Amino acid sequence: MKEVPLNLRDLTLEELEAFLEGLGEAPFRGRQVFRWLVRPEVEDFSQMTDLPKSLRKRLSQESTIELPRLLEHRFSTDGTAKLAVGLRDGEVVECVLIPERDHYTLCLSTQVGCAMGCRFCLTGRMGFRRNLFPGEIVSQVLLARRFMQEFGLEDKPLRNLVFMGMGEPLANYRHLVKALKILTHPQGFHFARKRTTVSTVGLVPQIRALAEEYPVALAISLHAPENELRARLIPTTRRYPLEEILSACRAYPLKRGARLTIEYVLLEGINDHPWQARRLAEILRDLPVKINLIPFNPHPDLPFRRPPEARIQRFQQILLSEGFVATVRKSKGLDIGAACGQLRAELTLSQNSA
Ligand code: SAH
Ligand code: SF4
Repeated sequence: MKEVPLNLRDLTLEELEAFLEGLGEAPFRGRQVFRWLVRPEVEDFSQMTDLPKSLRKRLSQESTIELPRLLEHRFSTDGTAKLAVGLRDGEVVECVLIPERDHYTLCLSTQVGCAMGCRFCLTGRMGFRRNLFPGEIVSQVLLARRFMQEFGLEDKPLRNLVFMGMGEPLANYRHLVKALKILTHPQGFHFARKRTTVSTVGLVPQIRALAEEYPVALAISLHAPENELRARLIPTTRRYPLEEILSACRAYPLKRGARLTIEYVLLEGINDHPWQARRLAEILRDLPVKINLIPFNPHPDLPFRRPPEARIQRFQQILLSEGFVATVRKSKGLDIGAACGQLRAELTLSQNSA
């Protein structure tokens, strides 16, 4: 089997510095390379013009900065764009560029498929294939930036990142944390940590680890106010019951005025009853949260329905009257299969085998 060369995009600044030191170079060379890797147009060491030629040659012998390929894109009528990203082994993931009022948000994938098996999620249905490397996570930002340039989407900045694409970010913990460090480093991409949100199904040990190691904004996919129902929708509930998830949330460090996000997919007749809204309010009572209600995005392969508008509003109204911040997520990109839980990378498998 051919050995896979070291991809410098997988490295944090500290690791890059150490790598260059290992080649007998000064650590500042690591910083120089790190800064080049933020630029979407850079695909080759020859472009790193402030490095000596000999070093560029050495780097290209010892390593690579290869990027995944943008295979295909689709625009939704609401302006959302879904990008299919081809990885070096032929796997495909998707990321979604979402226009907001004054900025863009990029929804990133962290795994090919997902092992968590949530019943309402297409990515869950496809099963787990593999973890993404840190560089494969980071590169989605670069491909999105190229895409924005190409399509003249530079009216507003790409400012927010949400780890809500394919996969369970905290099940790929080590690579996720590296990607977070690369993406938020002031000398690199410099995304704000409070505008970088990791969404999790509720893996308690990893929530606690992230709190210690590298806290960013956190969103918890709750989806039910009681364990019994939650376990039927989300199998990991059997390992990590609600009480433990909420207690990890309580311990999660928040900046002044910041809140955790609670995501709640509304499934008609399953978790959208008024009593369930009241129960949800009860269990979240002492937590600084904003609740994001996500009306289910249907698909023929999924055995659930989206509740009618009136029921969605009733559910929201109860939470509001209990004093919570509660919003209903307008699902963007529904028409192109780019909305929450619709990512499956089904478009392009054949084209990436070349
Ligand atoms: N694995 C992480 C992040 C990816 S899923 C997590 O589960 O949090 C991102 C969000 O989309 C989660 O809140 C998930 O529950 C939600 N989602 C999954 N399938 C959905 C569907 N069919 N309709 C609406 N939301 C869905
Ligand atoms: Fe995985 Fe999240 Fe989908 Fe559950 S909802 S299967 S954790 S991607």
